[in-house]
Amino acid sequence: MKSYDILIVGGGPIGIACALEAKKKGLNYVILEKGCIVNSLFNYPTNMQFFSTSEKLEIDNIPFISKENKPKKADALEYYRRIVSSNDINIQLFEKVTQITSKENVFSITSEKRSYEANHVIIATGFYDIPKKIDIPGEDLPKVSHYYRDPHFYANQEVAVVGASNSAVDAALECYRKGAHVTMVIRGPEVGKRVKYWVRPDIINRIEEGSIKAFFNTTVKEVKKDKLILNTPEGEKIINNDFVLALTGYKPNFSFLREIGIKLSDDDKLLPQYNPDTMETNISNLYLAGVICGGTETHKWFIENSRIHAKMIIDNILSKTSVKNV
Ligand SMILES: Cc1cc2nc3c(=O)[nH]c(=O)nc-3n(C[C@H](O)[C@H](O)[C@H](O)COP(=O)(O)OP(=O)(O)OC[C@H]3O[C@@H](n4cnc5c(N)ncnc54)[C@H](O)[C@@H]3O)c2cc1C
Repeated sequence: MKSYDILIVGGGPIGIACALEAKKKGLNYVILEKGCIVNSLFNYPTNMQFFSTSEKLEIDNIPFISKENKPKKADALEYYRRIVSSNDINIQLFEKVTQITSKENVFSITSEKRSYEANHVIIATGFYDIPKKIDIPGEDLPKVSHYYRDPHFYANQEVAVVGASNSAVDAALECYRKGAHVTMVIRGPEVGKRVKYWVRPDIINRIEEGSIKAFFNTTVKEVKKDKLILNTPEGEKIINNDFVLALTGYKPNFSFLREIGIKLSDDDKLLPQYNPDTMETNISNLYLAGVICGGTETHKWFIENSRIHAKMIIDNILSKTSVKNV
């Protein structure tokens, strides 16, 4: 069985930042990643543009050069992949971690492929794997997707976009511009306040001119094969529908955290317990890094403000006697 000082679960930007920091400090480490390098980013919409400027997405001060001020998904894939290859980061891809237990200060980690031991574990599994379901009849029909990729697919189709956040607004605008007939179904009275400041006027104007239809204060009651039943303030409405993009957000894998033994807050935020100075959880030598720290408040942490976790964690590990002499 392979043994490491540090085992990192998740090869997103923050898991990679932790690996760079561990390597710099001479600790032996491995990342186990269930998909490809920066798997969440790979699954973002094809034309997605970050709200952060490229220098805010840099890890370990490695320059992120992009032509535009705010890089696109493709730029970020290039950036993080080149970091992994040029720094010879020890990462095992397409290897999902299924179980973590600890005994006498040693962690046993089981993946879908093999078992490992480690003195320290960093969980950097993000939040993009589990969609927040609307929980309505018909949600499992194949025409409903909780992820949006590319507008071309939806040309000439009746597309309902559920949600009013950045993802929903980007999808609605892109699909409309590629010839889809778009209807937004928005639970609240307006387009989300956190929508990128340069995009919000665009969607508001398209709705006002009627190019994109929008139902406010409305929820979806049921998805049918070629219709959608809505609960609007004026009562039930039935609209024609070919595809539903239910972009209502994502959540961390809370059962994974619970199974490991990480305590979550009792309220609906489900905040995992950790020391904000060291990122160590209620389990000694087990750390959280990146967006996973936010519980259901997935907008609180992002690359920009969580890349610092890497240094905090590795500094804390080094301050412990067990690895002082590596
Ligand atoms: C559309 C969109 C736009 C965004 N724009 C910005 C922006 O402009 N600026 C910004 O700072 N942030 C932005 N974010 C947020 C940012 O992408 C995330 O905060 C960031 O990806 C967090 O990095 P992470 O490494 O913590 O998690 P992730 O990038 O989600 O990485 C987690 C990794 O863990 C892997 N994993 C999960 N479970 C397991 C398991 N059991 N075993 C092994 N591997 C596992 C996943 O496959 C994934 O690769 C955006 C997010 C979205 C959705």
